[in-house]
Formats: sequence, C-alpha cells, structure tokens
Amino acid sequence: MKVSKLPKANVNKFLESLQDFGEVIIPKEKQEQPGVYMFDTMTDPSEVAWEYLRTIIPPKKYLTKPKEVIFKFDSQRGFEEVIEDAEQKRVLFGLHPCDIHGIKILDVVFTHQYTDPYYTRRRNNTVIIGLSCIPDEKCFCKSMHTDYTEDGFDLALSDIGDGYLVAIGTSLGDDLVAERADLFTEVEETDRRKYLDFRKKRNQSFKLDLDIDDLPYILDLEQHSPIWDELGKRCLTCGSCSMVCPTCYCFNVYDELNLDARSGRRIKQWDACLFKDYALVAGGHNFREDRAERVKNRYYHKQFRMVEQYGKPSCVGCGRCINACPAGIDVVEVLTKVREGSYAETESS
Ligand code: SF4
Ligand code: SF4
Repeated sequence: MKVSKLPKANVNKFLESLQDFGEVIIPKEKQEQPGVYMFDTMTDPSEVAWEYLRTIIPPKKYLTKPKEVIFKFDSQRGFEEVIEDAEQKRVLFGLHPCDIHGIKILDVVFTHQYTDPYYTRRRNNTVIIGLSCIPDEKCFCKSMHTDYTEDGFDLALSDIGDGYLVAIGTSLGDDLVAERADLFTEVEETDRRKYLDFRKKRNQSFKLDLDIDDLPYILDLEQHSPIWDELGKRCLTCGSCSMVCPTCYCFNVYDELNLDARSGRRIKQWDACLFKDYALVAGGHNFREDRAERVKNRYYHKQFRMVEQYGKPSCVGCGRCINACPAGIDVVEVLTKVREGSYAETESS
C-alpha cells in the first residue's frame, strides 16, 4: 500500500483543503458534556478531538439517516422520489478502524441482495479518512478482528509522534494527497519504525477479550440457555444498543398523510429489534412478544445469522452498546457466560 507522511504542523491546512471536496465531518467533544464525543460538521480544524475514543452515535447516521422522507405521493400526480443529501459530498474524517469495518458491513447489507439507492447515493459521495486510536477497557475490536483494516478507507492516518503516517487506500485518496502534495513528505525509515512501535503499543493496550472461535456453534447449542430469560428480565427494551451500534441497520417504513388524506410522505426511520412492536405483523400476531426472545434475537442475529449469511459477525467490538445500556448489559460478559455455560450452572446449583 502506498504511504506518505503528513507532519502535524500541516494537519490543519490539510483539513481545510478537504472542504474543497465537500462537508467535512469530524469527531468533536460536546461542549456541555466533556469527555463525550459526536461526529459533526467541522467549522474549524481546531475542533477535531484527536484523542476521542468513541462517539455516541456512529458515522452511519450520514449514510442511513435516523429519519428521512423517501418519497412524496399524491393520488392525482403519483409519486416523486426524494433522496435527501443525494448530491452532498462529504468527508468522514477521523474514523477508527472499528467504524470503518462497521461501514464495510453496511456496504454489504445495503448492496448484497437489493441495492438501497438512499444508502448508495450517499456512500458514493463520501470520502472516508481513518484515524488510529488506543483502546480503552470497553474496546474489544481486536477479538472481533476489526482492530486494523487494509481497505474501506480512502486515507488512513496513524499517529507517529511528529506526524501521521498516511495509508492511501483508493485513487480518490491519492488525488486528495496529490492536490496538496506540498503538505506531505516522504516516509523515512525512522517513521516506519515509529509506526511499528505504535502498532506494538496498541496491540498491548487491549484489556477486553472475547473468544469468538466457534461462537456460532456455541450459540446454536445454547438456544435454551437460562441466560436469555435472565437478560429478558433485565433488559428495558429501550433500543439504545441498536441506535448506537455501527452495524445495526433495521428501519421501519410508514406514511404520513396530509390533511387532504390524498397526499403525503413515506418515511424511513431507524428501528430496533428490541422494540415491542418490531415483529408485530398484520392481524396482530407478534413473533417476538416476549422480551427475552427480543434480546436473544439481537445476539443471534449479530453472532450467528450474519456469520451464516455473510461469513462474519456484525459486531465490530466498538463498545458503544456497553456504554449505552442503562441496564448494565455487557455484550462481552453475556457471550463469555454463554460460552462457559455459567448461567446454566448458576441456575442448576
Ligand atoms: S454490538 Fe455493541 S460492541 Fe458490537 S458493534 Fe454493536 S455497539 Fe459495538
Ligand atoms: S440498551 Fe440495554 S436495556 Fe436497552 S434494549 Fe439494549 S440491552 Fe436492553
């Protein structure tokens, strides 16, 4: 892979130059909540929170919107497709490897069987620039094999002290560097050493580990583990874990009618399999009325059915759901206990 170096003294100029491409989205610290981060539009390069760990909502919000009109209809005139932001060019700057893997999973989901025009139009107008990070006690991307990525980005920056080693992933990324070649320098042998030292330090920083070997097989065996009922009693079915997850993609579609009752809008809105009405169908039957079934479904979907369908789980180990759950449900703890059968032992002892 082609690499270059961006000295830290030139970073702000590079960020400003990205605005020529389109809206630049960066990780920012919330002013009213120190230590809490979000992706938002850059107005000044000094706003970048270089040391952020995870944002509350992942960058998926720029590709599949929390709520959007997908078409307008009128019984006289038919319908008119609406793709909000379809022409908006964007740079998603500062994505950590787990979030890049999250987008790689969404890319597959939204193009595999049917191409979602709302997602793909935005995705095709989006530049992705990655940023290295040091994990905290809730990161387990290493266990999920999403702690590094060699694709899924246009550029990826790794901190090597006085600058960033910039991996160039696409021809568009190459163009962005070429357009501001004056800001970049050659990578020296000492830079390569510093990068390898950084990788070593990062690899040694992981504190959380999840054994995913044979996990789908274990889950298949543990369909009736008491843990699912136990979690059903604890879970508030608030859906926060789905909303903050970079790979959760479920949505609901409904119509909003105007007062004339003949025209209106069709809305697409994020949904969560934890919500009570998620599996409610016409006629009033609910396939997952029981809370335990809904919690269990989330685990089986991510770690079992996604592996069956796409060959990998749809969890990238970002730790957001661990942070967000008001009931203290921790995905690593749950899956470790399922593997160990410790819930079953507790129940039977
Ligand atoms: S399940 Fe939790 S840890 Fe895994 S990707 Fe989703 S939010 Fe992150
Ligand atoms: S965040 Fe926690 S309480 Fe809320 S739905 Fe998810 S597992 Fe249940």
